[in-house]
Formats: sequence, C-alpha cells, structure tokens
Amino acid sequence: MGKVYLTGAGPGDIDLLTVKALRVIRKADVIIYDRLANPEILAEAKDGCEFIYVGKEDSHHTLPQEEINEVIYQSALKHDMVVRLKGGDPLVFGRGGEEGLYLRERGIKFEFIPGITSAIAVPEYAGIPVTHRGITVSFRVVTGHESKKKKSQIPWENYKTDDTIVFLMGLHNLDKITRKLMEIGKPKDHPVAVISRGTRPDEKTVIGTLEDIYQKAKDLPTPALIVVGEVVRLHEQLNWFEK
Ligand code: SAH
Repeated sequence: MGKVYLTGAGPGDIDLLTVKALRVIRKADVIIYDRLANPEILAEAKDGCEFIYVGKEDSHHTLPQEEINEVIYQSALKHDMVVRLKGGDPLVFGRGGEEGLYLRERGIKFEFIPGITSAIAVPEYAGIPVTHRGITVSFRVVTGHESKKKKSQIPWENYKTDDTIVFLMGLHNLDKITRKLMEIGKPKDHPVAVISRGTRPDEKTVIGTLEDIYQKAKDLPTPALIVVGEVVRLHEQLNWFEK
C-alpha cells in the first residue's frame, strides 16, 4: 500500500508552489489533480508518472467527491506515492479533510502538504492586504456557494463587523451576497473588489461598491473571489502586479 500526499498547489502562479509540494510532485507515481491546480506543475513530474484529472471548479464537480475519494484510494492500492493536488490549500474549501478521513478509514497513510491559499494570496497580488493596522484587525473566509435548495448556513448577522470578508466560489452569487450585506446594514458605498484569475498573467481586479459591483464584475472569467471591506481602498496605492 502506498502513501497519499494531500497537497496544495497554490493559487495559480507556479512559483507559489511550496518546496515540499515540488519534492513530492517530482517523485510521484500518480498525480490526481483539479482544474484549479496550474497544469504547468505537471511538467515537473517524473517520466512515467500517471495523471488523473478529476477536475472541479466552483463546486460544479466533474466527479462527485465520493468517486474522487475512491480514485485516490484505488491509486494508493496500486502505487507507492500518490499526490492529490488541489488548488490553493487542501483544507480551505478543498475537501482535503474528507479525503483524509476516507483514507484513514481504509488504513491508508497520508500527509497534508499546505498550499498558499487564494483567500490571502489573490488579494495580496491585487494590492489588498486582508488585515491592515488601523483599518481591520481580522478577516473571514466564507463560502459564496451554498445549496440553492437548503436554507443559508451563513450567519449573515455576524458580518456587521469591520472584518475583511473574502468570499470564495461566490461569483455566481455576487448579486445575492451584496444584497444580503446591504440588508444587514452595510452602506451601499462599502468597497468591494472582485479579483479574477488571481496571480496568473491575466489577473484582473474590478473595484466597486456593494451597490454597483454586480453590474461591473458579473461577467469576469473564473476562478474569481470577492473581497469586502475598507482594505479594498488600498488597491489604488498597493496594486503592484497588474501594472
Ligand atoms: N483550496 C482553495 C480554494 C478552493 S474553493 C484555496 O485555498 O485557494 C475555489 C475558489 O477559490 C474559487 O471559486 C475562487 O473563489 C477561489 N480561487 C481559487 N483560485 C483563484 C484564483 N487564482 N483567482 C481568484 N480566485 C481563486
């Protein structure tokens, strides 16, 4: 039986891969990867490495999670070194915890290899610090993707604070998210950024307010994330990458 490395691939820029991730990628017998993981990374694999694509983006799964778990498990029965490569960090809306539990129940050894999460790195490439002295003392990372059938699990009332809020998987719900935040009392002109394809050469940031960001940003290409908070104003001065 092999070992599985539940590995973060970083947010897009291949240079944001960790040294540890690169080490296991170079030795892997099989790499099971997502759409969010930069495919250039696969060029680092050894000759003969098998690639299995189980792509998913914004939770529109190509394979259901249960089947992905099984693919990883079956790979570990056949190979010594299995790398499960995920965009960003494997445990930030990455379902790496579920994969770890599935393997544990079946007696397969695994390790987590953290990755640089898009939740922090993508705003950073856009010149938006998630915390900034004198502006905000905390930040939240929230899913913007919720089941349409079930009632919202998001405790919107808690979001009245000055925390920076980063919504992942939220572009298709941008209208709903901005309306909710205005409903709980955030001002219409509260700053919002949508950052599309962050840390990649075609990164694009659109700045707006709760009231107008939907019209400005709804057609941006994915992956994209939403940043809400006063820190968004720093983009004008700190934007370094898109210039
Ligand atoms: N585990 C990942 C997040 C998975 S959820 C991480 O830690 O980064 C997928 C969501 O992440 C996308 O819907 C998008 O909101 C965000 N995302 C990932 N990569 C991104 C990128 N390069 N630019 C903008 N958003 C990104």
